[in-house]
Amino acid sequence: MDKIRERVLVVEDNAMNMELVSDLLIAQGFTVMGAEDADVCWAKLRANAFDLILMDLQLPDKDGYTLVREIKQDPALATIPIVALTAYAMAGDQDKALAAGCAGVITKPIDTQKITRQIEHYLKRANS
Ligand code: MN
Repeated sequence: MDKIRERVLVVEDNAMNMELVSDLLIAQGFTVMGAEDADVCWAKLRANAFDLILMDLQLPDKDGYTLVREIKQDPALATIPIVALTAYAMAGDQDKALAAGCAGVITKPIDTQKITRQIEHYLKRANS
C-alpha cells in the first residue's frame, strides 16, 4: 500500500495538537486536512475523500461520540475508519469510543514515535 496517496482528516480543536499531528503525518507522506469543529468536519467530508479520520472526542460544537455515530450512519462515509484521539486513558472511554463506531483509540498526549505506526495499523486493517 502506498501511503503517499492516503488522505487523513484530522478533527481537533486544539491548535497545538492539530499542528503536531499534521506535521508528523505530512512528514511521513500522508495527505492531511484539518477540521477544528464538527461543522468544518462535515464540510471537508462532503468535499473530499478520506482513507481515515482522526477524531478528537471533545469538540467545541458537538461531542465527538455523537459526531462519530452520525458519520457511521452515512452510507457514503461509513467505511472510513475513525480513530479516536482522547485525553482519557480510562478503559470506559475507550469502550465508549469503540461502541460509537471508532476502529480504535489513540491517547493524548500524542506519542510522536508511535502515532504514524498506529495510523498505518488501522489503515492496513481497513484495507485487508
Ligand atoms: Mn478538543
